Amino acid sequence: PYTGPSAEEVLRLRKEFLSPALFLYYKKPVMFVEGKGQYIFDEKGRRYLDGLGGIVTISVGHCHPHVLEAVNKQNATLQHSTTIYLHPNIAEFGQKLASKMPGDLKVCYFVNSGSEANDLAMLMARAYTGNYDMIALRNSYHGGNASGMAATSHSTWKFNVPHSFGVHHAMAPDPYRGPYGRNDPDAGKKYAADVKNLIDFGTSGQIAGFIAESIQGVGGVIVFPDGYLKHAYEHARAAGGVCIADEVQAGFARTGTHYWGFETQGVIPDIVTMAKGIGNGCPLAAVVTTPQIASVLAKRIHFNTFGGNPVVCAQGKAVMEVIEKENLQANALNMGSYVLAGLERLKEKHNIIGDVRGKGLMLGIELVKDRTTKEPAKSECAQILETCKDLGLLLGKGGLTGNIIRFAPPMCINKGDADFMLEVFDAAFSTL
Ligand code: PMP
Repeated sequence: PYTGPSAEEVLRLRKEFLSPALFLYYKKPVMFVEGKGQYIFDEKGRRYLDGLGGIVTISVGHCHPHVLEAVNKQNATLQHSTTIYLHPNIAEFGQKLASKMPGDLKVCYFVNSGSEANDLAMLMARAYTGNYDMIALRNSYHGGNASGMAATSHSTWKFNVPHSFGVHHAMAPDPYRGPYGRNDPDAGKKYAADVKNLIDFGTSGQIAGFIAESIQGVGGVIVFPDGYLKHAYEHARAAGGVCIADEVQAGFARTGTHYWGFETQGVIPDIVTMAKGIGNGCPLAAVVTTPQIASVLAKRIHFNTFGGNPVVCAQGKAVMEVIEKENLQANALNMGSYVLAGLERLKEKHNIIGDVRGKGLMLGIELVKDRTTKEPAKSECAQILETCKDLGLLLGKGGLTGNIIRFAPPMCINKGDADFMLEVFDAAFSTL
């Protein structure tokens, strides 16, 4: 049993010694001290279904034995940082990652966070093309560092400092709130026309690149209409740009049908960034690109002290092995489809549910006060999250106003967990 400080004591320490910008999800804060598979335990030993997976980081399950074995072995053998000497782990992990990539995407860079990965990707785009302007999407999240914040498009995440030079934000291809809905077969092409418009009217006509999440996560699980990325990539490439896919949330089999989110749109990017689920809980992120683009970075020294250290590479490789061995992609598809069908039924019953959507185990439920005006139901969303937590289910929140519930659990959930999720959900909505 847990013997450390109480939640109240930890809260007090946090208030006194940690950043005042840190936010807590719940009015009644919870503290977690242990995790196993898809479950997480508070200090009193109470079990919760981890429906957010530590913000989409726990891909194969908490403390997975195969992952632990790999990382514990490496921890006991050599903890080291740097790439200035040879080590097998980084080379083998790079080879494994490249084996999952289409086209000529095979050169891997390792860093420590999604923000760093996107920063590096944008550096590559600019260094390779000699252009500066980037096109990103409204409602995106790409990081909290200067360049990531520039690419991000939510006022809530952006500080009022000069970070945004050169990034232009095109219309979010949101079939629920945008002008072109799911019943429009040309919606993808129409939304992508805004990328061309922005290039023509907002830049010199030459750009460094286009960056987009394959499914917008923080923005509230926005699934782009078919054909969107294909057309957007065509416009970006015609203006001299390279295309960056941010797979930080959608990658590593989470969408169920494909290993990478961009594959659901039938495109091959020039640069792919990844983090979160790649490490199943450790600080590991990567950028994968083509040898041609990579050659440009060799013109200067590029270095990252902890990027690709032996411990995280052992962990990353073990995570990929588990996804394969346990068929977690198929499970993400089966369980995701099952939950989505259940959510569709709940939508019939509860008027506050405006939209349900997602792919595999990256699902979103958008809450509205009125289905016609689509006025966001923000406080109700917070209340539902709190009730679900009290009933043993953790969920995420997304969207500019925080009115979208996110479900992105470890990909090892089973049918019992899916039924539990739907039951808790139904009960929580019934309390409103
Ligand atoms: N890209 C996406 C799509 C993300 O969701 C996030 C984190 N929420 C990031 C980048 C930044 O990752 P990190 O917090 O590891 O820097």
